[in-house]
Formats: sequence, C-alpha cells, structure tokens
Amino acid sequence: MKEEKNNLKKGEKEPTLMEKIVSLCKRRGIIFPGSEIYGGLSNTWDYGPIGVELKNNVKRAWWKYFVHDREDIVGLDAAILMKAVVWEASGHVAGFSDPLMDCKSCKKRLRADKLIEEYIGKTGDSELPVNWAGEKTPPEDAMAYIKKKGIKCPECGGEEFTDIRKFNLMFKTHQGVTEDSESLVYLRPETAQGIFVNFKNVLDSMHMRLPFGIAQIGKAFRNEITPGNFIFRTREFEQMEIEYFVRESEWEKRYRELQEASMNFFTGLGINPANLRWRKHSPEELSHYSRETNDIEYKFPWGWGELEGFAYRTDYDLSQHEKFSGVKLRYRDSETNEEFVPHCIEPSFGCDRAVMTFIIDAYREEEARTASGEMEKRIVLKLHKDLAPIKVAVLPLMRKEELIKPARDIFNSLKKKFMTYYDETQSIGKRYRRQDEIGTPFCVTVDYDTLKDKSVTVRDRDEMKQERIKIGELEDYLKERLS
Ligand code: ATP
Repeated sequence: MKEEKNNLKKGEKEPTLMEKIVSLCKRRGIIFPGSEIYGGLSNTWDYGPIGVELKNNVKRAWWKYFVHDREDIVGLDAAILMKAVVWEASGHVAGFSDPLMDCKSCKKRLRADKLIEEYIGKTGDSELPVNWAGEKTPPEDAMAYIKKKGIKCPECGGEEFTDIRKFNLMFKTHQGVTEDSESLVYLRPETAQGIFVNFKNVLDSMHMRLPFGIAQIGKAFRNEITPGNFIFRTREFEQMEIEYFVRESEWEKRYRELQEASMNFFTGLGINPANLRWRKHSPEELSHYSRETNDIEYKFPWGWGELEGFAYRTDYDLSQHEKFSGVKLRYRDSETNEEFVPHCIEPSFGCDRAVMTFIIDAYREEEARTASGEMEKRIVLKLHKDLAPIKVAVLPLMRKEELIKPARDIFNSLKKKFMTYYDETQSIGKRYRRQDEIGTPFCVTVDYDTLKDKSVTVRDRDEMKQERIKIGELEDYLKERLS
C-alpha cells in the first residue's frame, strides 16, 4: 500500500474533498479506475480487495435489516437477461429515456435537465423553466430556459446546442448466434422487473400473506448520457430494491412505515442525519407508474443528490405484466375469497451510491500526535463497525521472529471470528495510519512486553486510546465491541 503525500508542492492547489476521496480509494485498494492498464474505460470502476469487503458489508447490512430481521420480506436473485417483452410491458422500451442534446462547438453530449439543475444549484436562480418536471420537462421549455439564461456548455463554454431529443437508456444485446429482432435482449435497467415477473412464483411457493415484500440486490445497466461524480452515476451499477405488495386501501400507512425504515437504515449505520433529507417529487415529475415518489437525498460535496428512490407504483406493473403475459397475477384473500392485483411500494436503493455515501460521511482529517510526539495529519474513515472492511489488524511491533510468531498465532485464532488482517511491513505508525484510512476499528500490537505479560496493546480507531489486554481475554474484548 502506498503512502499519501501530504505536502503540497509550490503552486499546487489543495485537492477537493472528492479528489482526496478518489485518491484514498485508489491508494488503499478500495476502488480502482476500470481497465486502467489500457488507458481506462471512462466512468467504469472496479472494487479492490478492501472495497469489495465494504460493498459486501453494505449489502449484508441491508439484507439483514430488510430481509432477515423481518417476517414480511423475502429475497430473490433473478436473471439480468429477461425476455424483451418484459421491457415493453414495463414501459421502458417506450419511455425510459433522457433529454439529450449536443454542444455544437465541442460536440459534448449533455443532459438538458442536469445542465439546468447545475445552473440553478450554482446561481441560486429562483426562476424555474416553464412546466419544469426534471427529465420530463417538455424539450421546448427546457431549451427556451437554456437560451433565456444563457447557460453555457460546461466543457467549452459554447452557447449553441442541437435540439433536445429523447435517448433510450437501455443497453441492447443479442442472445444466441443470430443477431435479429427475435434474439434481441436488454441488460436490465432496474432489478424491479425481475421481482414483478416472479410475483406468482414467490406467492405460490412461499404462501405469502399481504402485506409482503420481495427484495433483490443485483446489477443494473443504464447507458447514461452524463455519468460522473466517481461512482455516483455509472452505466453499470448495483441496486438494492424491494417491491412491497399491499392492499390499495393501506398503501399510505405502509408507505410511511417503509419510509421511516429506509431513513433508519442509513442513520443506524452512522450517517449524520443532518446530511440526509426527503425530497418529494412534484406531480409533473412523477414517473408514469407513480402516484407518490420521495427521494432520500444526501448532501454530497457538490450538492444534494438522490441516494434512494421511494415510489408508490400502484398496481401498474403487475397489471401490465398480466396484460402482456396473459397470466393472472392476483392475490386471493383467504377469508373473503376476493381476488385482486395488489398495489406496490418500491424502496429502491443504489448500492454504489450508498457505498460512496458511507465513505464520504465517514471521512475525517484530524491532527494526531506521532510516537515521537510531533503533530501530523491523520486521515480516518470513521465507518460503522458493521461496515468496516477489516475489523481487527494484528501488528507485531517490529519485524522480529520472536514477535512475529505470537502475532501470527493471535491472527490465526482471531481470523476465524472476525475479518482480521496481518501486517508486519514498515513502521508501526505507518501501519496504524493505513488501518485508520480504511476504517479498521481495532489494531492489536504485539510487543516485547507481550512475551513477558501475555498481553497485547489494543488501539481504538476513533479515540486512539490504547489498552493492555490479556491474550486470553482478547477475543471476548473484541466481540463485545464489534457485535
Ligand atoms: P437519477 O435521477 O440520479 O438518474 P433515478 O431517479 O433515475 O436516479 P431510480 O431509477 O430511482 O434512479 O433508481 C434507484 C436508485 O438506483 C437511485 O436512487 C440510485 O441510488 C441508483 N441509481 C440509479 N441510476 C444510477 C446510476 N447511473 N449509477 C449509480 N446508481 C444509480
């Protein structure tokens, strides 16, 4: 692992928070640029050895909270490739598009709605475009606003743009050896439809009673016009979605309950509530299937941005799939024998956005005293213990055989219980700093006193407090603090 250069060269600007985070992620094996040795493939990112642990912990925490800890939600893992007709039924073939325009000078592809949002965010202009509805704003109204306000191309400053046209975001491919319309398949742009098409399978096999939900974590693909902001907007990403089926009469009650649970998921894992808020969609902005949508937004370094979409989808999806498949997707009330298509509430979380949010919210720069008494900058990820990629690092004070042997024995016994890391390279100070930067809650140091008193030093990440603990009591000490 490489060390960070803290000292700026003459004339060098202090990096922005996002630049620092992207650099930390690369340096510490959290997230790497995709296809890097070939010059990179823009806006693709690969999770490294530490990042994959963090991402798995986010998914595990979400699954535990919404599936294992509840009786009314069960899991599913559906295929990414589905019959093309699924996307006709869902409305994606006809309507899953963004307003696209090109800068006539530099040819940069731009999303008209995002350009307007960025302009308003930067200037604080209180006037909105006529009929403003985000990505659904009528193209002529969006263009009139861009012209009226003199909004420029962010790439080259140009003011001449092509007309706004609709661009479908679904990736197409072909299944099998022939490339004709029969073999056309789409990479799913959301995991939700895999749930709707399995509604009957889950109902019949699991004998679910309303209200109940089906949860899924998986990849989704969108050919975004303007990806960016690190892993905030990419073309391949993971979603964590729930379709929660209810009687129409009780949608609002269940909607509010799940809203509260969603917010608690983030705050329970340590996100500062002051950095979270609900944003309600205006009637014009609502998707074709939705009667109410609220987003959980996080205060990212560039402004508020969507972290979770939370829609009341009515009975739209199941009704559409009934129509297109000819298969009845009904629920039968065992008492009244009444048969009906349930309504649906959808909490839709972005897994990668959640990972990024946890990193940003946990990132701290602090002044700390080194072993020799000087003050230095310490970067620390104050991640919730459940999310920390490594829970315990075992470090012999020096790379000496007599310390390595007991340190390895401790490592071998702890790794069966906790995600444990062993490190004997470089000075102890540098090793502490490395663990701070990936958010490891505890470092266990084996020193020469250990050989005499059979105790180790346990250093706490947040307080940097050091305690001597007997080796025989170490596992219980850590268990108490990590579970
Ligand atoms: P946005 O307005 O940011 O494009 P959206 O409203 O299209 O998002 P939804 O369709 O509601 O997003 O998807 C649910 C969640 O999936 C979002 O809240 C977000 O966390 C995540 N998500 C959507 N698109 C992307 C993407 N391109 N990259 C990463 N995560 C995404």
